Amino acid sequence: TTCPIQQSISAEPYQSAPATLFGYTPNVHEILRGLRCHEFVAYVQPKFELESNAVHSVEVLARWEHPQRGLLAPAAFIPLMAFETLLLDELLCDLLDQGLACQTELHSQGRTLGFSFNLSMLQLANDALIGRLIGRLGEHTLPLSLVTLEVTEDAPSVASAACFQNVSRLRRLGVRMSLDDYGTGYSSLLRLCQLPFDELKLASQVTWHSIENRPYRSVIGNTVALAQELRMQLVVEGIETEGQRVWLKQMGVQLGQGYLHSRPMAADSFAEWLRANPYAIATRSSFNS
Ligand code: C2E
Ligand code: MG
Ligand code: MG
Ligand code: MG
Repeated sequence: TTCPIQQSISAEPYQSAPATLFGYTPNVHEILRGLRCHEFVAYVQPKFELESNAVHSVEVLARWEHPQRGLLAPAAFIPLMAFETLLLDELLCDLLDQGLACQTELHSQGRTLGFSFNLSMLQLANDALIGRLIGRLGEHTLPLSLVTLEVTEDAPSVASAACFQNVSRLRRLGVRMSLDDYGTGYSSLLRLCQLPFDELKLASQVTWHSIENRPYRSVIGNTVALAQELRMQLVVEGIETEGQRVWLKQMGVQLGQGYLHSRPMAADSFAEWLRANPYAIATRSSFNS
C-alpha cells in the first residue's frame, strides 16, 4: 500500500518556479477565463506545533489547474494578476469561499482549525474589496477568530491610512492579521510599527541558514523575543529538515510550516489526509531528499 505521507508529497509534482520555467506566460484573458471556469483551486498547507508536530491551523495557497498546462504555482500567475488587481481580488474572494467551506466541513467532522488567506498590502488598502470580504465573512458560521489574513508584499507600497482603517475594521470583527515573509523584501520592522499584527511569519530564507550561521541565529532569537513582547504569534516558514525543527524549538519557536511537516495539498483531500495523519510525525523527515 502507498504511504499517505508519500501520497501527499507526490500530490504536488512541481517546485515553485518562475513562469518562464514552465515555458508559459498566461495573459489576462486566459486568467479571466480560468477564473470563470473555476480552475483556480485552494491548496492548503498546515502550520504545525514544533513540539508535537500536531497540525495547528492551515494556510490556503492558490493553484491553477490549467486544462492544458497542468497544475501551476502562484509564481506562474500571481505577478501578472498583480498588474490587474481586479483579477487578484476575484481570486481572493474565490479562495476565501473555498477555504471557508473547507473549514466549515472540517468543523462538522470535529476538527476545528484556523484558516489563513493571503492578500497584498495594496489589496488591504482597497476599501471596496475589504467590504466584500467582510460581507462574505459575515455569512460564515464559525468565529472569525479562526480566520487570519496574511499580508504579503511583493512590491513597494505604503501602509496608508486606508490600510490602518481596514485592519481595524477586520480586527474588530475578530479576524486575525498576519505579517507574511517578515524579514525579506518589503516586509519590514517598519510595517510592524505601522500596523497591529496578531501573527508574524518569519521568512523561510532565515530558516534555511539558521543552524550554521551566527547572524541568522541572532535574528531568530531576537524575533522570538520581539514576538513575545508585542504579543504576536510567531510562525517560522520553510522548515525542511528535522535538524531545523529541533533547533528552532530550542530557540523558543512554537509554530512552523514547511515541507518537513507537509507539502501544500488540495483542500478537497485535506480531511482525508488528516484522518490518515492526525499528527504528522517527525519520521516524515526521512522522505525529504
Ligand atoms: P507565502 O504566503 O509565503 O507561502 C509560502 C510559500 O512557500 C508557498 O509557495 C509554499 O508552497 C512554500 N513553502 C512552504 N513550505 C516550504 C518549504 O519547506 N520549502 C520551500 N522551498 N517552500 C515552502 P507557493 O504556494 O508557491 O506560494 C508562493 C507565494 O505566492 C506565497 O508565499 C504567497 O505570497 C503567494 N500566494 C499564494 N497564494 C496566494 C493567493 O491566494 N493570493 C495572493 N495574493 N498571493 C498568494
Ligand atoms: Mg502566506
Ligand atoms: Mg510567507
Ligand atoms: Mg511569499
